Amino acid sequence: MMTSKEKIYQKENQFIKLDKENVQNFINLVDKRFKSKSLIDHRYKFIKEEKHVLIPLNEAIVKEKIILNDLMKSIQYEIVQRKVTLNSKFKFKKIEHILKNRLPESALKLIPKSFDIIGSTAIVEFPTLNGFLDKEKKILKTEVAEAITIVNKSVKSVYEKVGQVKGEYRLRPLHILYGTDEPVTIHKENHAIFKLNIKEVYFTPRLVSERQRIINSEIKEGELIVDMFAGVGPFSIQIAKNRDVKIYSFDINSDAYKYLRENILLNKVEKKVFAYNIDTKILLDPDNKQGHLLHNRVDRIIMNLPESSIEFLDVACFLIKKSGGIIHNYQFCAKPDPIDLAIKNITNSLTDYKFEIKEIISAKKVKSYSPNSDLISIDVKLSSK
Ligand code: SAM
Repeated sequence: MMTSKEKIYQKENQFIKLDKENVQNFINLVDKRFKSKSLIDHRYKFIKEEKHVLIPLNEAIVKEKIILNDLMKSIQYEIVQRKVTLNSKFKFKKIEHILKNRLPESALKLIPKSFDIIGSTAIVEFPTLNGFLDKEKKILKTEVAEAITIVNKSVKSVYEKVGQVKGEYRLRPLHILYGTDEPVTIHKENHAIFKLNIKEVYFTPRLVSERQRIINSEIKEGELIVDMFAGVGPFSIQIAKNRDVKIYSFDINSDAYKYLRENILLNKVEKKVFAYNIDTKILLDPDNKQGHLLHNRVDRIIMNLPESSIEFLDVACFLIKKSGGIIHNYQFCAKPDPIDLAIKNITNSLTDYKFEIKEIISAKKVKSYSPNSDLISIDVKLSSK
């Protein structure tokens, strides 16, 4: 167990202290004998003193002091311990590379393996840090957050996810860990841009390939498409940027709708995407104008509300063309056969409506959702019974 800040902050490193005039000699020797990277630790800055230069050494190599003795027969040197300053020019590729020298082994095992980057923000989730004092947890989390900003120079604010995605709007509770609390950001995805507030709307960069897959699917010119749970528009806008179609995009969250409208303008698809801030169930209401307009006219429907999309198949059947159409449906389904379950859910729900599955175009796992369930995407062609 760690007991003090000092133990967590292992920011001291060994340096080789040389007379100024010997520095080039040393570097030449190192280059000749080793790849310079392995002996000099380029993650840290050289320290320049009046008569000496201190060069940070790679810990693993320093342990084998014989190598140094052998190498340095002709040069006088001293090994000293100093606090390090990160070399801002060094391109750290992984947060582990930075944290290795800052955190003890026990904490390194607990650093998150992945985090989400949305524009200038990052969202990170920690496991329960059993055995650490609150003070230590705070330092550990701050170290991780700072490391994320070092590896990803565009990230200015790091948030911790402090609970599950929940509620109708599918929001995740976030707590600022590092940098300024600036949740409004602009995210780029597949040549489109999305302005959003990560605290007020749902957005995940983890669906980037899924969205690309939908854009690449066989969408025909002139199709009428409905994005039933559009959020800030990642599906609608990216399809519209790539295809000559008309898309009606709905979201119940007024903040998502606000950004959806802004993003339509930012991406110049205002002639193709039409946004509405409503509960899509309202489309079934005979007095609803949009419902009336779209009834039995739609070629394709995107249903990205995995926890309850099945409950909206009535709306999908109300909108889809009488001759049939395509549905991109997302569901969280329990293991061990989540794909079979997702198909079964659609088939069972359709028994109440005039449509049936004509063809399963694609059925696949998008990502793992929880230890017991996966996010499944099902593309089906419906035809009238
Ligand atoms: N498609 C977007 C994306 O990929 O980022 C958002 C997906 S998010 C999982 C689901 C969205 O559906 C949320 O923005 C939520 O506000 C919206 N939503 C939930 N229930 C809704 C309903 N009954 N009618 C319209 N939108 C709804």
